[in-house]
Amino acid sequence: MTSRLVLLGPPGAGKGTQAARLSTQLGIPAISTGDIFRSNVAERTELGQRAQRYMDAGEYVPDEITNDMVRARLAQPDSAQGFLLDGYPRTLDQVAELDAMLAGLDARLDAVVELTADDEVVVQRLLGRAAEQGRADDTDVVIRRRLEVYHEQTAPLAEHYATRGLLRRVDGIGSVEEVTARVLAALNAS
Ligand code: AMP
Repeated sequence: MTSRLVLLGPPGAGKGTQAARLSTQLGIPAISTGDIFRSNVAERTELGQRAQRYMDAGEYVPDEITNDMVRARLAQPDSAQGFLLDGYPRTLDQVAELDAMLAGLDARLDAVVELTADDEVVVQRLLGRAAEQGRADDTDVVIRRRLEVYHEQTAPLAEHYATRGLLRRVDGIGSVEEVTARVLAALNAS
């Protein structure tokens, strides 16, 4: 079983839910850059203050801020035996940075799982979540902007990882349990 993993997929594809389940099943920490940013915003840290306006607009937080945060997180001892990155990398620059960070730790990625889902399905899911949780970046206009940014900047990462032989594409539509089973099967097959 592989243990240094990246979860790719559009906002609303279920990455957070699957990352938590996979973390338990695989015994590795799930590292969500979105969650780390949100807790920094809630605690009004300097990092949170730098990140918030980008998040509220559905834009990406600049790479240098995000990369430094991930580098610090991967240096923590619980990441040594593996990790599941949820929401990072999201740009080709972040891909290069992650490779450099891992090379510094004498490690490499084992697999990249892409959860696929149609735009209209994810928009409806995110609007439902907005009604439940009231996240500032879950309004209709911001949701559509987040998807646009995803297609422009992050979707190309799937092709990049496919050429490196790391990509596992998994249908993200189905019950939570079904999707977890598909991911585990895709990882076992690798
Ligand atoms: P998420 O919960 O993964 O959808 O992330 C929420 C927001 O946090 C995103 O819309 C971005 O503003 C920011 N964010 C999270 N991860 C990254 C990343 N890898 N690069 C840049 N911004 C990010």
